[in-house]
Amino acid sequence: MPTPMPYAITRQDDGLLIEWVRGEHAALYPARPLRLACPCAACVEEMSGRPLLDPATVSMDIRPVFVALVGTYGLKIRWNDGHDTGIYTFERLLAACPCEACQGDRARSR
Ligand SMILES: [Zn+2]
Ligand SMILES: [Zn+2]
Repeated sequence: MPTPMPYAITRQDDGLLIEWVRGEHAALYPARPLRLACPCAACVEEMSGRPLLDPATVSMDIRPVFVALVGTYGLKIRWNDGHDTGIYTFERLLAACPCEACQGDRARSR
């Protein structure tokens, strides 16, 4: 399967709006869960995948301040807590898509 590439990415104070397909399949990734899912080496132990980030240290009003593409395979988010080392691959983001259709698909395949 080819690497997914979103049609549009919009930064919002409450999260990231990703439109996967033009005019359809759009979903808002809420800010705090996205910050908590940061895959960088400071937040997740690389070898074991053990989470190193204590959710209690992440503010309730965490928000993305800047979003940048990383090549054609992912994006980087700078958060208002200064953290910006995580690279979120599109593959991962699509697999975690919070839209109703994807949630439904995942529930059915469980
Ligand atoms: Zn991180
Ligand atoms: Zn979806």
